[in-house]
Amino acid sequence: MIIASNFKTNHTRKSTASFVNEVNDFLKSNDISNEVIVFPTATSLDEFDTVPNLTIGTQNAYAVEKGSFTGEIGTTQLDEFAIKTILIGHSERRHVLGESQDEIAKKYAFFKELGYTIVYCIGEPLEVKEAGLEKTLEYVYEQFEGIDTNYENLILAYEPVWAIGTGVTATNEDITSVHSAIKGRIDKPLLYGGSVKVANVREICSLDGVDGALIGTASWVVEDFKQIIENTKDL
Ligand code: PEP
Repeated sequence: MIIASNFKTNHTRKSTASFVNEVNDFLKSNDISNEVIVFPTATSLDEFDTVPNLTIGTQNAYAVEKGSFTGEIGTTQLDEFAIKTILIGHSERRHVLGESQDEIAKKYAFFKELGYTIVYCIGEPLEVKEAGLEKTLEYVYEQFEGIDTNYENLILAYEPVWAIGTGVTATNEDITSVHSAIKGRIDKPLLYGGSVKVANVREICSLDGVDGALIGTASWVVEDFKQIIENTKDL
């Protein structure tokens, strides 16, 4: 099971350090072996001393080592902290920040070449969901355009756009039908994301075809995130 926390634009450098250290102590003292990934803001990346199953990843980076790309970070900045995990294709980058599939595919190819673990997000907006499962899958499969799905360090995250940050979680039926279809095509770990909470994480992670969760809002308070890890530790 993989449990990941996406901080988005939350936490400071100081509060991130305290969050990571607390989660690390929790994993260590409870002998928890599930994989945990935390994606802090770029300004809070650092070299943390963690157990092997706690990884720090970056929410984003530009597909470059270094150069003149105002406001971006490249691999020089990630290498400083030995960051080798990246989130690509998140719905907020696609729909709020306007990343195209072409840009996403280029970013994916660049970080794949460098051996990064890539958590690759896919998911449909509400109007597509309302058009039915076939349309949803069609939309989701288009998000694999230009993406090498055989890449060994690939983790997928199915995150319906209408469920992200809205408090509306997809139903178990929604999740299992989309997950089983994706899994039928691509044999990679597949996380669910979209309003996962302390109260429903165990049920969701117990569904067929669900290999973990990518969590935003409900993961930002460290006590809640520890409870999420606790609730899924034997799955
Ligand atoms: C996310 O940002 O990946 C996410 C799933 O957010 P939330 O848990 O807040 O819906």
